[in-house]
Amino acid sequence: QLFLEKYGYFSEPGAGTHSPAEFTEALRDFQRVTHLPLSGVLDAPTLHQMALPRCGTDDGDSRAAGARRAPPARRRRRTAQHGGRWYKRHLTYRVVNWPSYLPQHEVRLAVRAAFELWSNVSSLRFWEAQHGPADIRLTFFHGDHNDGLNNAFDGPGGALAHAFFPRRGEAHFDSAERWSLHSGKGRNLFIVVAHEVGHTLGLQHSPVKSALMSPYYKKLSKDFVLSWDDILAIQNLYGKPSKGSAIQLPGKVFTHFQDWNTDFYSRDRQQRSLSTYYCHSFFDAITADGDHNLYIFKGSHYWVVSASGNASDPRPLQPRWPGLPAGIDACAWSQLSGKFYFFKGGRCWRYAGSKLEAGFPRKCSALGLPRHPDTALYFQQLRRLVLFKGPKYFVVGEEPLGVEPYYPRSLRDWAGLPPATAGALTHRDGSVYFFRDDQYWKFDQAKLQVVATGKWATQLAWMGCWDANSEQGLF
Ligand SMILES: [Zn+2]
Ligand SMILES: [Zn+2]
Repeated sequence: QLFLEKYGYFSEPGAGTHSPAEFTEALRDFQRVTHLPLSGVLDAPTLHQMALPRCGTDDGDSRAAGARRAPPARRRRRTAQHGGRWYKRHLTYRVVNWPSYLPQHEVRLAVRAAFELWSNVSSLRFWEAQHGPADIRLTFFHGDHNDGLNNAFDGPGGALAHAFFPRRGEAHFDSAERWSLHSGKGRNLFIVVAHEVGHTLGLQHSPVKSALMSPYYKKLSKDFVLSWDDILAIQNLYGKPSKGSAIQLPGKVFTHFQDWNTDFYSRDRQQRSLSTYYCHSFFDAITADGDHNLYIFKGSHYWVVSASGNASDPRPLQPRWPGLPAGIDACAWSQLSGKFYFFKGGRCWRYAGSKLEAGFPRKCSALGLPRHPDTALYFQQLRRLVLFKGPKYFVVGEEPLGVEPYYPRSLRDWAGLPPATAGALTHRDGSVYFFRDDQYWKFDQAKLQVVATGKWATQLAWMGCWDANSEQGLF
């Protein structure tokens, strides 16, 4: 009875006051929603279903949708209670805390991919706020955490997480679960975040078994993460993606990340769209060398785009840069020394050709360089490297490696530049281009200000995305 109460199967809440008839009716409702035989009694399949790990948000409306006999008054009450949506399209989110055994960078990547699922198929756009206020906050809690006894977490299994409908912007996760970023053991954080984010956007539980918004936990599989039921639901609230073209592979983004290393090359059918996969998604870092070749980094691979705009197939970071880890934060090629610099976490790598220089990787944070820099750039005017991190930038000398005096300084020196860019390069037209998500900012070195902005995949031919193909929506 407590279970049915918690998940919204009684029309009048209040523990211990339900007649046997109400109890039977509530059980039948639950069995209808979960596609079980409508026995109306607590039989073995029903008890088994109740014990499965699931979302702690109640089934109120999906239940009303399934129960055609539900009186209209009750359905309206449910809808009024839950409904709601955001009245803006650009939302910020913040991961307030996370399990200490998961690396921060990977958690942020998984959360970003989860939000990307929804922005790929709707007009919504999301930005991560690493500090301060945000529209949607993701928080891990133990047990009772002050939003009602009904919402107290129950340890491993049972309710894994819950979230609130707009515009409260809160999703809570049970700290007692064993969270994981991979398929296999543990609860996959990406899947659960993607589901709870759906609630924070206004989606209710779906009675469609294959839907991400179905209340029961699903393992990460190679199938699409979003079903058409999820896509229609989000488009009902927020409309289609503004770029007009429907994206063909909703939900594949994260699976790509996963399969990247193992069976990537065996997948002929996907090869073509993957060869320019960077055109359709975020990348980790970008730079250009002295011959104006672009290097675009994502995960454990990189692409080279020649000066004529032809993109290579993705190549593994090894053996081009032996010892370089996947998922770098930033990269810059120095025109002064002709060397590649890579940054990840508090460390940095320097290569002359394919040779890692002696003494590297170094603990660059000990030299005053920022940890997890957003962007690295060789800046010709100063003949120095520049590292960008949040609202600040650092000017860095190469020999000896270290931050120049009087830095960091405020990003305001770079008029018009937003924080948290993914990468930057000096183009052969003499301008510096900064990238973040699907946007670019063109920075004039003489005027020291941003002079143009737009979408890089569709507006900058030299990014190599123009003949990427028309099967997938470009970023
Ligand atoms: Zn849910
Ligand atoms: Zn909570």
